[in-house]
Amino acid sequence: MSLRTRLILTHTFVILLALALLTASLFFILRDYQRQVQLSRLGDAAVPLAFQARTLFASNVPFRDVLARLQQQAGTTGTVFLVTEKGVVLADTTYGLANRTIKLNPPVRAEVTRGYFWGSLQLKTGRTLLYVAVLAGQVGGQAVYVALANIERPLFEVLDEIGASLCMAGGITLVVSLVVAILLARSIARPLAQLTEATEAIARGKYEHRVQAKGHDEIGRLAASFNAMAERVQRARQMEKDFVANVSHELKTPLTSIQGFAQAILDGTAQDLAEARRAAQTIYDETARMAHLVGDLLTLARLESGQMPMAREPVDLSDLLPRWIERLQPRARALETRLVTAIDAAEYRRLAEASVLGDAARLEQVVTNLVDNALKYNRPGGSVTITAKVEPVESAGRSTLIARRKILPQLTPQWVRIAITDTGEGIPAEDVPRLFERFYRGDKARVSGGTGLGLSIAWEIVTAHGGTITVASEVGRGSTFTIHLPVKDGGANARGSPPLPL
Ligand code: ADP
Repeated sequence: MSLRTRLILTHTFVILLALALLTASLFFILRDYQRQVQLSRLGDAAVPLAFQARTLFASNVPFRDVLARLQQQAGTTGTVFLVTEKGVVLADTTYGLANRTIKLNPPVRAEVTRGYFWGSLQLKTGRTLLYVAVLAGQVGGQAVYVALANIERPLFEVLDEIGASLCMAGGITLVVSLVVAILLARSIARPLAQLTEATEAIARGKYEHRVQAKGHDEIGRLAASFNAMAERVQRARQMEKDFVANVSHELKTPLTSIQGFAQAILDGTAQDLAEARRAAQTIYDETARMAHLVGDLLTLARLESGQMPMAREPVDLSDLLPRWIERLQPRARALETRLVTAIDAAEYRRLAEASVLGDAARLEQVVTNLVDNALKYNRPGGSVTITAKVEPVESAGRSTLIARRKILPQLTPQWVRIAITDTGEGIPAEDVPRLFERFYRGDKARVSGGTGLGLSIAWEIVTAHGGTITVASEVGRGSTFTIHLPVKDGGANARGSPPLPL
């Protein structure tokens, strides 16, 4: 059974139940009301009868005659009988109640029964007799009441009168609420059906499928989060496709070259030794490039899957950073670029105190990659400056702060900030968000043969250390790559801090 049908049926059931309860309570209210009206009428008619009875009693008229006179006066208003204050019927001509004791209830609603006693009793015929007793006078030392009785009007007679309008009201209520139920069910079921359709479409591989997200209610929010999820799935799929295409392309180019030069050696196109040597050199270079690419891919895959073994030791950057930079000096000289470390003595001391927890070799890989890029994408005669600072976490922006606290809550709120600034051509603003994507390469890099994986690897390593890596660049002036690494908390370290999420 569909959700829509279920909603409509439930709604209808609830409405019918409500109508049934309403009818039942109406029935009881009507019965009570009807009885009160009848008692009130009997009470009104009984008062003058009681007056007359009093006069007759004073004249010592026997009960039977009194009764006959009173009945004559009452006419069709009801049946008269005489009753003592204890409820013993003294005389009755119609219902054979003489000498029986009937109940005399005190008035329940003074405004209706005007303080007269009343009662009801079941007759053999199954009908109910209603009566009102009014004090007439004292006869032989006991109080005598005149009772006026009438058969209670059966309720179905009353219902007969109002039944038609009651049915009409019930019918209208039912129809209106059914229409509302159908509209409501449709408004709930339709977006759900659309969501189901969209889920099936995505399962079939149609990742571009979206649903209409209207309003801020539960369904609107579900649709919006579904769309967000679909967006991410689509992006992930696209990245996967791009990745495979990129890897194939990157491997194919050197392979074609290797094949060509090997062919040249084999079929004798490379005639002399010098030519064969050149061909072999190209094969060697291309193989080295492929090995580099495959190595980078492997590192990236391991980092992403969390399988890369990563040490968690205190890293003293005041000692290591200058050594890492020193190792890059020959490359800087070869590229005719100045490589400068701008850290003063006081900052070195602070760096020595605030060591970072992590893997020194991997962090060196990050710094080397960033400095290498800064040298590579510089202009001849340019410079690369490295600075390092210990600073409070608050300076790093709110989102990174929250992210860091989540990852390493035990650390004191301090960062080591390493900035690598070059005087190169800079990166166009539209390219900046793509820098850390796998295989992203700028135009110059395409020529120089970079793999486009270096920054992705750097990003993965820094993130695994609970840090961040950001870029600020200005075309024509140069770029600054900044790494923020959380500082190890001395106290927490002594207790033994939880492992890094590597
Ligand atoms: P690769 O250097 O192997 O191409 P990376 O991932 O290290 O790969 O860098 C990606 C791209 O980012 C580079 O191709 C280059 O276009 C750009 N880039 C990186 N560092 C700099 C820099 N310091 N200045 C200008 N562009 C840069």
